[in-house]
Amino acid sequence: MKVGVAKETAPGERRVALVPEALGKLQAAGCEILVESGAGAGSAFLDAAYADAGATVVSTDALYEQADVILKVAKPSPAEVARLRQGQAVVGFLQPLIDPQLAKALADRGVTAISLDAIPRTLSRAQTMDALSSQANVGGYKAVLIAANAYPRYFPLLTTAAGTAKPANVLILGIGVAGLQAIGTAKRLGAIVHAYDVRPETREQAESLGAKFVKLKTTIDATGAGGYARELTAEERASQQAELNEAIGGMDVVITTAQVPGRRPPLLVTAEAVKGMQAGSVLVDLAASGLGGNVEGSVADQAVLTGDGVLIIGAGNLPAQMPAAASAAYSHNIVALLAELVRDGALTIDPADEIQAGVVVTHQGTVIHPAVAALLGSPAEGGSR
Ligand code: NAD
Repeated sequence: MKVGVAKETAPGERRVALVPEALGKLQAAGCEILVESGAGAGSAFLDAAYADAGATVVSTDALYEQADVILKVAKPSPAEVARLRQGQAVVGFLQPLIDPQLAKALADRGVTAISLDAIPRTLSRAQTMDALSSQANVGGYKAVLIAANAYPRYFPLLTTAAGTAKPANVLILGIGVAGLQAIGTAKRLGAIVHAYDVRPETREQAESLGAKFVKLKTTIDATGAGGYARELTAEERASQQAELNEAIGGMDVVITTAQVPGRRPPLLVTAEAVKGMQAGSVLVDLAASGLGGNVEGSVADQAVLTGDGVLIIGAGNLPAQMPAAASAAYSHNIVALLAELVRDGALTIDPADEIQAGVVVTHQGTVIHPAVAALLGSPAEGGSR
């Protein structure tokens, strides 16, 4: 089986789906690796490194003509979809629940679409394939570095002959994968770290990393299905916002990571709360996107300085800003997933398997993932999900 590594074409996307050091395991499983020339350049993996690891470096045309499976990070662009052909498979963050039309286009072309954003995350044998977590880890780490870089003071307590600098108070809102990594990173930089989440079990996790859990007077337990949070009711939201405003006022840096699956990110930091912060304070909103964000006024990929001197940074694609580490982790996830799917040197699709039921979106001309098929208004065929 020929596995092709495509060069990413989305603006600002510097990651690559497979790094040279990850080739060995796929080769051992009987795969031949083709790499589109320049695919790893954005992550500092040169063509020569892939060739040294035993891959064949090929042109874009040759890649799409010859590969049985195309590995990507971001979903394919319309031009890339047009290059994919019947019987070929494509693997990446295809976002089928956000972009079901892409799934339909791939099914129409007879392409098998495998999406890493739909790995069943709580299944222990799928943990090595959990690319959402591996990339959220990078995002949480990078968000703290961005905040520290923009903050005009020190994070740690520093005593020097030129005086004493107070440590920064950093608040992490949302203690999922990115939030936990952000807590650890801010702590290592010497800040006083506070954290808050609507799932009570996160308190112990945050405290074990050295953060102080912000306890609101109003008890909110928004534990939802699959370890995720549910959306808050209007009353819960109002009391949460009022109490958070108070906590935010005393912070120098706020990093927000809160998400609710399938919903707009919750608004956690209102314009009023931002007004209560000191000049020079910094907010980094990891949830900032076209859907909104956790911070009122945040814009993805932009830094907005308020009239009161508070900087609101809307994080964009942070894993792409630390591409070598993000790609290495993503490769690990891809190799683990392919180890599940490749049998006797060929891709073996079995929609009845628990992992495949999550990740295989289209096969043999049909959208087989029921949730995606439902969005398209057509019943899924083939699977029993
Ligand atoms: P996520 O990106 O969906 O959300 C980030 C955090 O925001 C979550 O902790 C959520 O509770 C919090 N949040 C949502 N609404 C909020 C609000 N109004 N106020 C404050 N916080 C709010 O989460 P994630 O990082 O993808 O992780 C979600 C869950 O999945 C966690 O329980 C995590 O432990 C679990 N998980 C499990 C595994 C595994 O078992 N292998 C792997 C990955 C993640």
